[in-house]
Amino acid sequence: MPWFPDEWIDEVVSRNDIVDVISEYVILKPSGRGYFGLCPFHSEKTASFHVSPERQIYHCFGCGEGGNVISFVMGMEHVEFVEAMEHLAERAGVPLPNDTDTKDYQKEREERQQLYEINRECARYYRSKLFEEEGKEALAYLNSRGLDMRTIKSFGLGYAPDRWECAREYLKSRGYEEKQLLEVGITVENKEKGRIYDRFRNRAMFPIINQRGLVLGFGGRVLDGSLPKYLNSSDSPTFSKSRNLFGLNLAGKARPLKFLIIVEGYMDVITLHQFGFPQAVASLGTSLTEEQARLMRRYIPEVYIAYDGDAAGQKATLRALDILRDAGCRARVMQFPDGLDPDEVLKKYGPEYFRKLMDNSQSAVNYKLGRLREKYDPETTEGKVDFATAAAGVLAELDNPIERDTHVRELESRLGISSRAIYDQINRAQAVAGKQNRRQRNSVGNNRNTIKKKQPKILKSRYSKAEDHLIQLMAQGEVMARKVLDGLGNITLQDPLHQRVVAIVRDLLEKDRDISEAQILSRITDREDVKKLVDIFRQEMEYDNLDTMLSDWLGQIARNTLNKRRQELQNETSTLEREGIPDMEKYRLLLQELQQLNHRLSTDKLERRKLREERRV
Ligand SMILES: [Zn+2]
Repeated sequence: MPWFPDEWIDEVVSRNDIVDVISEYVILKPSGRGYFGLCPFHSEKTASFHVSPERQIYHCFGCGEGGNVISFVMGMEHVEFVEAMEHLAERAGVPLPNDTDTKDYQKEREERQQLYEINRECARYYRSKLFEEEGKEALAYLNSRGLDMRTIKSFGLGYAPDRWECAREYLKSRGYEEKQLLEVGITVENKEKGRIYDRFRNRAMFPIINQRGLVLGFGGRVLDGSLPKYLNSSDSPTFSKSRNLFGLNLAGKARPLKFLIIVEGYMDVITLHQFGFPQAVASLGTSLTEEQARLMRRYIPEVYIAYDGDAAGQKATLRALDILRDAGCRARVMQFPDGLDPDEVLKKYGPEYFRKLMDNSQSAVNYKLGRLREKYDPETTEGKVDFATAAAGVLAELDNPIERDTHVRELESRLGISSRAIYDQINRAQAVAGKQNRRQRNSVGNNRNTIKKKQPKILKSRYSKAEDHLIQLMAQGEVMARKVLDGLGNITLQDPLHQRVVAIVRDLLEKDRDISEAQILSRITDREDVKKLVDIFRQEMEYDNLDTMLSDWLGQIARNTLNKRRQELQNETSTLEREGIPDMEKYRLLLQELQQLNHRLSTDKLERRKLREERRV
């Protein structure tokens, strides 16, 4: 674990407002002094995820998740503290500190950067091959698909020659190691034959580039009829299929970016781009994932689904609609005539027609109802009932009552079923969905979308409450922090996490820096610890007179420490007694201390009683 300088951490955190960062993942609506939204850590229909801009923390009243901007990124991006900090630094344009001189960190970072370099170098190599003699066929293929030179260049397309070891040899000649080439998946190893060779051979190459311009991996398409038609790099330290999108590097730069278009294939993305739709992106050889949907949401929540018009495309569309909705995107569905795909539509009918199809796209609900209409025959009573029942299920997902009512009325007039009956069915569907949600909630699992089983509420002891409150007070600022630290003297808190907070506060004071909840939290690198502290910071603190309470809590902690010492002394003396008191001097000293302790504890008790009586008067 590298140790970033505190000043740098503070700088990065202060330039990443928690509301801005969370808004990239969650739609937040202002409410009172904070914001509410649908919790990204568990699935829910009513917003119980609260963000406080004032305190720079978030908390979910549904599942109990909580933290600061760093732990939020850790949770959403599935990364550790270091990567979360890098992400936030990059987001805010803060350069990485030079003096994170822990060797491991530097080494790891350099290694990762080298892998990206290898990919870039390899992309250049493939690109140059496309314009050489052996790439003639590939170039002809791309041209036959209607791609012009500008498009081919802006996507960095290339050609992997029809030989077993050319990328391998080339990259090794450039000084890269066998191990690295295998790691990024440019080469593969056949262990049985003891051979290492190029993954991509005789294919048109599509480099996959992320928003930061790094080459993550490749997709390769055959030029003939052989299989598989598309081959992708395997997941590697530089490439994760489920978390990136093809074309996003270019789509993200489109200005103004008012929407994204999600398509099925690389070719669709490229053709759309060429016809003036740079907003097109595609998933990477898998169906759309939650991470990809959230990635899109980070750019813009308006998404057009432009999947192929065939049966598989329609099925994928239904799936994508739900995933996009859950990620907070507003999706519309484009439909193409005659089972064509977007690439074909553009070439056959042109961009104006394509734009018209966008204008005529359907909302999620309309699309789903349309699919149902095709499935059931409304001429028969049975078909009518089945259709109305299924339609009620779709309408149950709608949050907007006005929109729902419009659909119900339409169904009423179309099917001749009373709106009351349809509403009854909607309510039933909602009840079932609610039950399913509850069932999901009760299941335990590592999946972060299922909620952890509610832990039995452990009643906190007076003692641990006192520690919690001291931590809370210290986070209020310098004056309080000094008060608490003075009161504690050399007493150590029991909870190791609390000890850490005390050390952090001491350090902040020494360096003459501000003390706040946010400052303390950003120095805690474990997500669970951050959550524990946020829970403590959120506790109600009830008191009439702060100074009295403070001395009560400090007294509680001092007594606890004394009691613990007394227990130790008792154990030691009785051990000595069992052994026949081999060391009389030691025994005498222990007894003496024990006596003093007992005395202190009993006078303390008396004083407290007196104090309580005084207070009552
Ligand atoms: Zn939650």
